[in-house]
Amino acid sequence: GELTSEEIIDGFIDRMNNVEADVKGFVSRLENSSGAEIKEIGDLRGIPIAVKDNMATLDFPTSCSSKLLEGYTTPYEGTAVKKLKEAGAVIAGKTNMDEFAMGSSTENSGFMTSRNPWNLDHLPGGSSGGSAAVVAAGEVPAALGSDTGGSIRQPAAFSGLVGLKPTYGSVSRYGLVAFASSLDQIGPLTRNVKDAALMLNILAGKDQMDSTSADVEHPDYLAEIEQDISGFRFGVPKGYLELELHPDVKARVEEAIERIKENGGEVVEVELPPADQALAIYYIIAPAEASSNLARFDGVRYGQRLGDGDIEEMYQKTRNEGFGSEVKRRIMLGTYALSAGYQDELYKKALKVRTLIRDQYKAVFEEVDFIITPTCPTPAFKMGEERDPLETYLTDIFTVPANITGSPAISLPAGFSEDGLPVGVQLIGSAFSEKRLLQAANSLE
Ligand code: GLN
Repeated sequence: GELTSEEIIDGFIDRMNNVEADVKGFVSRLENSSGAEIKEIGDLRGIPIAVKDNMATLDFPTSCSSKLLEGYTTPYEGTAVKKLKEAGAVIAGKTNMDEFAMGSSTENSGFMTSRNPWNLDHLPGGSSGGSAAVVAAGEVPAALGSDTGGSIRQPAAFSGLVGLKPTYGSVSRYGLVAFASSLDQIGPLTRNVKDAALMLNILAGKDQMDSTSADVEHPDYLAEIEQDISGFRFGVPKGYLELELHPDVKARVEEAIERIKENGGEVVEVELPPADQALAIYYIIAPAEASSNLARFDGVRYGQRLGDGDIEEMYQKTRNEGFGSEVKRRIMLGTYALSAGYQDELYKKALKVRTLIRDQYKAVFEEVDFIITPTCPTPAFKMGEERDPLETYLTDIFTVPANITGSPAISLPAGFSEDGLPVGVQLIGSAFSEKRLLQAANSLE
């Protein structure tokens, strides 16, 4: 007979119980189906979905994997989470992440480091690394991540999953703890493109609670997903495959390009701004916005409060002991970029370059429907390897342009490296082209 929702949930919880000690993807989670709020409605009825720890939930704390917010529970629920529940999903738990979404590996989590289920000596990527790990390990069929500079797509690539960053404004950010508000988007990590389309159907839409959510008509992203791609034009950015790339990544991307041609797609070379340009301004704009957004974590309203002397001491102690070193680094970088005397040279200049990059992408999308690139220059990072912060920042080179331009982008599994680690390929589309982007992705799967 048919499985009941309780049996489905208990099956996934069994899986969590078996693998979580190794995978370490959840910072909080359901322990049994009797704790679950089951609604027998919707496309996701009885399906457990994991949520990154930076999205407001009533069922679990929202700590952004930061000591500063450890155990903090919001008095409200974010829109994306609410929509999942309205579609019948059960929130399975909150997933580990780099603190406040700053990082690429979960090593910056204030709590623990998650593992890559394909090879436990490797990392699942980040910052939505816990979300990627729990989907890749079969603990849930899908998870929500957030993507400010690649944090959905890079962990999806490292973990053999599909990761979709929707167009800026497609999905409400209400209830997402802001990192860099002009770049942040919520999106799904799933095992296949159809599940990503189903999740986008549920998540997308204008929300009164987020003035930056777009008032556009969203099509049914799952309908016509099997559309063949003859007539679709794909652009390979000139010089990108000559950048410093792991040879297996390069080989898998070249194979994906061949597959596009075999499937009837047209491939041409396109001229994009140098890849490191978007990266350079990302590491000004994102810290600048973060330094402002994180000013609220001062011991007054949210999470832990330390010190019992004057208010100055409270701010200092709360922030000094609550924030980890990467978060402090970003706050210092951002404060510097916004300070009088430097903001014209740094922040304001970065905004001008952002406009120029947007214009160049717009022009390229007159010629082609999609841009194809690697998702990340390498397969999953190894656990415990020394990487200096700048080295890690450089690995965001292929993902940040979609955030800088607001474009939708998807990472797809493209095969494996010689040592058996997943490799991802990225497709970027023009604003609100998710329907075709998902069709193109589906044809390559
Ligand atoms: N790795 C990038 C960073 O550290 C992206 C983070 C993100 O998308 N949240 O900023």
